[in-house]
Amino acid sequence: MPPADARPRTVTLLGVPYDANSSFLRGPAKAPALIRQALASPSSNSWSESGEDIGAGFEDAGDLALPQDCLSAFSAIENAVGEQLARGARLLVFGGDHSITFPVLRAFGKKYSDLTIVHFDAHPDLYDEFEGNRFSHACPFARIMESGVARRLVQVGIRTMNAPQRAQAERFGVHVIEMRQLASLAQAGLSGPIYVSFDLDVLDPAFAEGVSHWEPGGLSVREAIGLIQGIPAPVVGADIVEYNPERDASGRTAMVCAKICKELAARMLA
Ligand code: MN
Ligand code: MN
Repeated sequence: MPPADARPRTVTLLGVPYDANSSFLRGPAKAPALIRQALASPSSNSWSESGEDIGAGFEDAGDLALPQDCLSAFSAIENAVGEQLARGARLLVFGGDHSITFPVLRAFGKKYSDLTIVHFDAHPDLYDEFEGNRFSHACPFARIMESGVARRLVQVGIRTMNAPQRAQAERFGVHVIEMRQLASLAQAGLSGPIYVSFDLDVLDPAFAEGVSHWEPGGLSVREAIGLIQGIPAPVVGADIVEYNPERDASGRTAMVCAKICKELAARMLA
C-alpha cells in the first residue's frame, strides 16, 4: 500500500543518521534522535517566533536504516526522499554529515526543475574531491552543481574559502556571500522554489559547540534566525546537518538545532 498523502499544513521530519563521509570526526549519525528530543523538551514550547504551533504540525517519518557503504546509502536516501515528495510532504531532513544533501537534492531535482539552494555554512563544500573521497562532506555542492539538480546555489556565512574552492565557485557560478560581507539575503535576489541546507557550523562555535569543525567568526543564532525569516520566496524543503552530539555534553547545541528547526518549519509553512 502506498503511504498516505501528507496532511496539509504539516512539515515531515526525516532522520538520515549517516556520517561515514566525515573527514575529521564521526558523530553526526547520532544527531536525529537528539534533535527530536530537544524539540520535545518541556524546557521550551513548540511555537515559532511568527506564532505558528510547529509542534502540532510535525509528522515524523522516523530515521532511515542505512548501510555504511556510501553508494547504497545514497540510493536509499534518494529513494526515501523521493517517496516523501511523491506523497506531497514538505520535508525537513535531519543529518547526518553534509554529504547527505547530495542524494536528498537528487530526489528534489526530479520534482523541481528550477530549484535555488540557500546554503548556510562556514565552508563552501565545493572540493572536487577531499582526501580521495568525491562524496566527502567537503564535496556535496560540487556533485550537486555538476549533476544539474539545482538552477542556482547561494552560499551564506562562508569563512574558509581557499583557491581550489574559489575556482570551483567560479566554474559553477555560485553566488557566495562570505561572512565578512554579510548584511542580508536581500542582495542575493532570491526567487522560489528554495531549498535551505543548514550546516550548523555556519554558527559561531560560541553559540554551537556541538559541531565537528569549529570555525570562529560565524553567525549568532539571532542572525541566522533573522536570515531564515527573511528568505523572500517559498521554501519547499530543508536540511539541518553536521550537528555532532559527541561535542555537545551540555545538550545546548541540540536546543539550537530545535530552534533552527522550528524557524525553518515556520518558513516552509508560510
Ligand atoms: Mn557543510
Ligand atoms: Mn561546514
